[in-house]
Amino acid sequence: MARYTDANCRLCRREGQKLFLKGERCYSSKCALEKRNYAPGQHGQNRKKMSDYGTQLREKQKTKRFYGLQETQFRNLFDKAARKKGMTGENLLILLESRLDNVVFRLGFASSRKEARQLVTHSHFTVNGKKVNIPSYEVKAGDVIKVKEKSTNSPKFKEVKEMSITVPSWLTVDVEKLEGKVVTLPTRSEIDTPVAEHLIVELYSK
Ligand code: SF4
Repeated sequence: MARYTDANCRLCRREGQKLFLKGERCYSSKCALEKRNYAPGQHGQNRKKMSDYGTQLREKQKTKRFYGLQETQFRNLFDKAARKKGMTGENLLILLESRLDNVVFRLGFASSRKEARQLVTHSHFTVNGKKVNIPSYEVKAGDVIKVKEKSTNSPKFKEVKEMSITVPSWLTVDVEKLEGKVVTLPTRSEIDTPVAEHLIVELYSK
């Protein structure tokens, strides 16, 4: 019998929503949320009506977990978004999407952001020909992300080469070359992460 209890799946159950933290499993019937769509813990099945603060807090936690950031990293990114011109919530989402680990995931080179982070940390990628092993590295329009020559024969990337990959409109990918390009940074409408960013702005503006 399949086991469902694990830390990542508990995060999805807490948010009552798939956060896609475990790659292929998230798209299968083995997803914990398919069987137990209630919060973990003794009182998990007693969902209470949430206060405004609770709703804003959950939205922030959910977003943080989607992208796999710690609180301090997330707060720093929010502050950076607030200093930029334009809408803070939208800026925040664009900054989150611009992280190298997210781009590697979006290019289909990893099955989850968690795996993407690990692959980046293990130095499997170059950006514009230079090795980059920092998951939070902020990509820019025109950047070329490529699997390092030495890594192309690893089972992981051989498997990627066999896949048919669809990428968001702001990216292009050449699966044969294991190479992707940031055509432009995304606009809000090109980001499909289900987040109500205004709730995060409201939370941090208190
Ligand atoms: Fe677990 Fe993925 Fe389902 Fe979340 S979406 S509960 S991480 S299998």
